[in-house]
Amino acid sequence: MGIWFRTKLWKRVFLGLILGVIFGLVVSQLMDAVAAEALLAKIRVVGDVFIRLIRMIVVPLVFFTLVAGIYAMGDPKKLGTIGVKAFALYILTTFVANLIGLGMGTLFQPGKGVDLGGAEPKQLGDAQPLVERLIAIIPENPFAALVQGDMLAIIFFSILLGVSLLMAREEGRAAGRFFEACSEGILKMTYLVMELAPFGVFALIAYVAGTKGIETFTAILALTLAVYIGAALHMLIVYGGIIRFVLGLPVVNFFRGILDAMMVAYSTSSSSATLPLTIRATTENLGVQKSVAGSVLPLGSTINMDGTSLYLGIVALFTAQAFGYQLQPEHYPLIALTAALVSIGTAGVPSASLFLLSIVLDVFEVSPEHVALIVGFIFPFDRLLDMMRTVVNVTGDAAVATAVAKWEGELDEDVFRAKPGR
Ligand code: ASP
Repeated sequence: MGIWFRTKLWKRVFLGLILGVIFGLVVSQLMDAVAAEALLAKIRVVGDVFIRLIRMIVVPLVFFTLVAGIYAMGDPKKLGTIGVKAFALYILTTFVANLIGLGMGTLFQPGKGVDLGGAEPKQLGDAQPLVERLIAIIPENPFAALVQGDMLAIIFFSILLGVSLLMAREEGRAAGRFFEACSEGILKMTYLVMELAPFGVFALIAYVAGTKGIETFTAILALTLAVYIGAALHMLIVYGGIIRFVLGLPVVNFFRGILDAMMVAYSTSSSSATLPLTIRATTENLGVQKSVAGSVLPLGSTINMDGTSLYLGIVALFTAQAFGYQLQPEHYPLIALTAALVSIGTAGVPSASLFLLSIVLDVFEVSPEHVALIVGFIFPFDRLLDMMRTVVNVTGDAAVATAVAKWEGELDEDVFRAKPGR
């Protein structure tokens, strides 16, 4: 027992991940498909409990830490500079991610010779027009936004509330402290929930490995490879490059510090659900101050989706190759731009971007039937791709938070350079 709790959390989560894959594969080999699925579905309940627990924390965590984070800045002007820097980096990295995706799609040609005959067409919902989406960021009723978990609206209101409390100076102090205390409390709650992470991750991964297993990889091997290699390259070159060459910090410490958040992202496929861990990892292991982590990360988990942008680029080329659409040079920057914008609008929940794919495919006028066939083809396998793109999404948030913290003098470098705590 003692040794379990003395072992660092990321090692325990890693153990859960590896054992989960092995267990899922063994079960799927030893039992027939129906029995294996039934057994794994029972085990999966532990994973579902884990996901529910972290989802439970997300709304209060964003609300309290964002208000407290802004309040801790002590000066509304600082919010402006942090916001501009974070936003600029978010957009830039998202755009680069898509270019890498397009490069991978060109190199691997994942759609070449793919037979879409067996795919079931999927109905796609209409995307909400951009202006409406933008206006909807302002909540008519902030309490309704909290209840519904409408993240961008919550973020909008929390930022305004934090700024207003600062403007209220002496009279706002008690309320500002209240939010700081609540955010401390809710962060402690994530520690408790994370004790379940090794088991939750085990259960979730066992289910995916056992039910979607090896066939999944072989059926869409080229696409999977393109997404995984592209994701790895983006993380190493772009985030590694920012950390090492722009910030002058050791890359290994960065990745080691956020490893448990990455693994939870991999097993939950949801950057919103991973947010509590991302905040915890960046503040505790990387030394990012709460004022920055609490403001930059909630925003990142909703709008910064580099993995999604990379994936959309690859799938756009996949579609063109599978159906023989001839892309012209001018299509590429348009795909990159559209994918970057779409990824901003993607919610941090499983498979969200697959249903926004049609907006990107519109760039080269893919017919609705073809869109439906592509979505139908990828849908059964999307989980494996989604897991990886979510890891990139979360890692990107942490990299940007680290950069902004460093530039604002809000990074405790001793903590960053030290070995991570637990
Ligand atoms: N699952 C991704 C996330 O939560 C979003 C997506 O579908 O691309 O980050």
